[in-house]
This record gives sequence, C-alpha cells and structure tokens, in this order.
Amino acid sequence: MSGVHPTTTVEVFLFALLTAIATGIGAIPFVFVKNLTRRWLGASNAVAAGLMLAASFGLLYEGVGYGLARTLAGSLTGLAFIVLVRKLLQRDEHPVLFAQMSDMDASKALLIVGVMTMHSFTEGVGVGVSFGGGVGLGLFITLAIAVHNIPEGLAISLVLVPRGVSWSRAALWSVFSSVPQPLMAVPAFVFVETFRPLLPYGLGFAAGAMIWMVFSELLPDALEEASSNLVAVIVTLSVLAMVAFQVLIR
Ligand SMILES: [Zn+2]
Repeated sequence: MSGVHPTTTVEVFLFALLTAIATGIGAIPFVFVKNLTRRWLGASNAVAAGLMLAASFGLLYEGVGYGLARTLAGSLTGLAFIVLVRKLLQRDEHPVLFAQMSDMDASKALLIVGVMTMHSFTEGVGVGVSFGGGVGLGLFITLAIAVHNIPEGLAISLVLVPRGVSWSRAALWSVFSSVPQPLMAVPAFVFVETFRPLLPYGLGFAAGAMIWMVFSELLPDALEEASSNLVAVIVTLSVLAMVAFQVLIR
C-alpha cells in the first residue's frame, strides 16, 4: 500500500467539480428561448442514457479485471442500494417551500431534486472509484458523467423556468443537484486507494446503480418526449461514441 497522494485527491475533486459545473450548462439554452420544445429533452435524455450505459460497462470491465465475484457482489449492492433509496424518497410527501413555487409544485420539484441528488451521489462514487482504476478510466468516466450532466441540467431547468424561475437560478439549482459528485468522489477515491482489494466492489457498486438509473430514469424520460426509434438511434450512437473514446484515450 503506497498511501494516497494529496495531489491526486485534489485532482479527483477538481474533475468531479467540473462534472457538477457541467450540469449548469443545461440551463443556458433558456437564455435564448423560454419555451424549449420537449422533443429536445427526449433527445438529450437519450444521449445521457447512452453515455451512462457505456460508462457503467467501462466500470464493470475494469472491475472484472481485478475479480469477477467482487465486482458482481459490488454491483448487486449498488442495485439494492439505489432501489431502496428510491423507495424511501418516493414515500416522502411533505410539501416543502421550494424556489418560489406553490405547495403542490414544491413537493414535485423536491422529489425531482431529491432523486437527482441521489443519482448524482452515485455518479460521484463512480468518478471517485474510476480514478482508483487509473487515470485513463478516471478521465473516461469523468467525461461521460460531465457530458451526461448537461441534459440533466436541461431537465431541471425545463421544470423550473416555466414556473417563473430565472435561467441563472435554474443553472444554480442544476449545479446544486450535482454537488454530491465532488463531495462523494473524494472519499470514494480515498477509500478504494486505501483498501485496494475493495476496488472491484466500488467499481461494481457504481455500475450496478448506474445501469438501474439508465432504465428507471433516463430512458423512460426520453421515451416520454421522443419516438422510440429516435431514442434508440441516439442511445446506440452515444454508446458507440463512448466505446471509441474509451479506446482512443488509452
Ligand atoms: Zn446522471
């Protein structure tokens, strides 16, 4: 065990911070238009789904290189974790005042932000454990998550802007929803660096939770706004682009 270099820890934090800031980019289209067609949301959710699916398999293949059983055990834990948390979130129906909205809208918005925060918690773990697998894997997962955060910021802004929230505040809420990414990436990275034999568990954990999110959140959202054919074409192209990118940066 060689210990964790402070420089690398700072780098992991900065990369994860960049992924969080990328979420705010999703609010920028609202500087120019107030009513974005929702078909755009479908297309961008499809991109997010494809990127996340490819990133999950990147984590899994890295994990099985260290140990198949540990990676699968980690994946099952990640899956159980995300299913449980989602169940708990949906049971919470307290109306809370939120970003200048009426009570009805506030509880819906709180659920959305709660789900996205959990979602981003998992992605932060993904970024952190990926740097445990090497800089190449770390950069691949960072880029996948950062690009995929843009449509997620767009999705948040599409809820907030029509309710009278300004684009700049929508951008802040979007970045806020991704704050768990830098906060989780550092402990996840330090954890797998300190306990190297647990790295495949960590990689599997993030992959298991992320694959669930693709099919539970991103694809259903995409299919609500765009045709299944368009969604399928975009998901396929996004997966192919990420596979090519992963090979090229190594
Ligand atoms: Zn995401």
